[in-house]
Amino acid sequence: MSQYVDDLIADVKATNPSEPEFHQAVSEVAQSLSLVLDRHPEYRSAKILERIIEPERIISFRVPWVDEQGEIHINRGYRIEMNSAIGPYKGGLRFHPSVNQGILKFLAFEQVFKNSLTTLPMGGGKGGSDLDPKGKSDLKIMRFCQAFMSELFRHIGPNTDVPAGDIGVGGREIGYLFGQYKKLRNEFTGILTGKGLNWGGSLIRPEATGYGSVYFAAEMLQTRGETLEGKTCLVSGSGNVAQYTTEKLIQLGAKVVTLSDSSGYIYDEAGIDTEKLEFVMNLKNVKRGRIKEYVEKYPDAVYTAIDPTAEFNPLWNHKAECAFPSATQNEINVKDAQNLINGGVYVVSEGANMPTTMDGIDIFLENKILYGPGKAANAGGVAVSGLEMSQNSMRYSWSREEVDTKLHGIMKDIHKTCVDTADRFGTPGNYVNGANIGGFLKVADAMMDQGVV
Ligand code: NDP
Repeated sequence: MSQYVDDLIADVKATNPSEPEFHQAVSEVAQSLSLVLDRHPEYRSAKILERIIEPERIISFRVPWVDEQGEIHINRGYRIEMNSAIGPYKGGLRFHPSVNQGILKFLAFEQVFKNSLTTLPMGGGKGGSDLDPKGKSDLKIMRFCQAFMSELFRHIGPNTDVPAGDIGVGGREIGYLFGQYKKLRNEFTGILTGKGLNWGGSLIRPEATGYGSVYFAAEMLQTRGETLEGKTCLVSGSGNVAQYTTEKLIQLGAKVVTLSDSSGYIYDEAGIDTEKLEFVMNLKNVKRGRIKEYVEKYPDAVYTAIDPTAEFNPLWNHKAECAFPSATQNEINVKDAQNLINGGVYVVSEGANMPTTMDGIDIFLENKILYGPGKAANAGGVAVSGLEMSQNSMRYSWSREEVDTKLHGIMKDIHKTCVDTADRFGTPGNYVNGANIGGFLKVADAMMDQGVV
């Protein structure tokens, strides 16, 4: 790694203290970019990377709301407007108690490169709140969303910043947020993506991240002349991304044996079929229950509690060929990565954002497995969000088949960009370098064109 990149990472740590996830995301990207910055001194003298690292704008605000018992709650809301070189800020909102500025900065930073890889005109942003939605009534969630949007609405717009969902923000929350935006602005406009189908949403948006992650895995496998058919797969999470990853894997003839939530995971040796997945979707999306309830319905499966402080996560310690981490950041540490390799896994497609620690990634790269990093593998969600924005602008909607075909095409193109870019920079098969450099170049060139702003 060049001295320039070393110094840059040291500076990021010094000027952004207490933001370990942001340091991690920047370090990973900067290491890949040292290959580019050595060849292109013009990016260095224009301080492109230094500018990309600094958010264009950070909005932090109070979210006071009153529950049905009359009790007042105060949460903190954020929007990180990271980079608008190639389009309006675009990226999800996360409602989770772990949310803080550093986590949202890492997510917004990743989003810049991911959105660029899709080839659609979208800048990068991310936002959210430290609200814990778990166990909260629909009324509480509605009141919170209305309070959140009462401040956010003045900072966003269809040509400025278009948020979407992420952890804790699904169709229900997008509905409440949209309703409040519309009331405040007196305007029906494509201000959020992930909307309901009969009020401006796109077909396939709920499915897009999970389907896209599976399409990406299929592309990686095709480089070795293989398919997903008959492969055993470990999937983590049981939310939006995990559900549709599982659905597409079942359609393609793979066998999914695990799902999880933050309390524990289920292992179903026989495989999760369509009927079992339907049970999970109802459990999680309608009843808002816990994954543990799966074994009450299907007693042949085994439930194991997960201790987040343990040395490794037992979910990643089963024999399989493919892994689809689809829950949260840093859910695969170095020990988990080694367990995956020892258990026979040679395809990892990241549905979640930055689910693997840096030393875990090193294990994957050393073992030369097919490792698709999140900013490439999970870009299908934002890609279909981009298509939703186009449909809103045109006041038109494409059919399910049309959107799925476009999604599939975009994932193939992202895969090709990663492969070609990794080759061009002398690291064939390294999807980390391919994604980081591929995403960077378009943003960097746009910033060069637009001057120092
Ligand atoms: P959901 O809220 O629908 O589901 C999240 C799942 O992950 C739940 O099963 C949840 O369990 C689990 N989880 C969350 N936090 C933790 C934690 N700290 N430890 C263990 N498990 C946890 O979110 P999504 O499916 O939308 O998002 C999952 C991942 O995919 C995130 O990393 C997100 O950033 C990424 N992503 C999502 C996109 C989208 O379109 N939705 C697009 C691109 C990436 P529990 O219910 O117990 O909290």
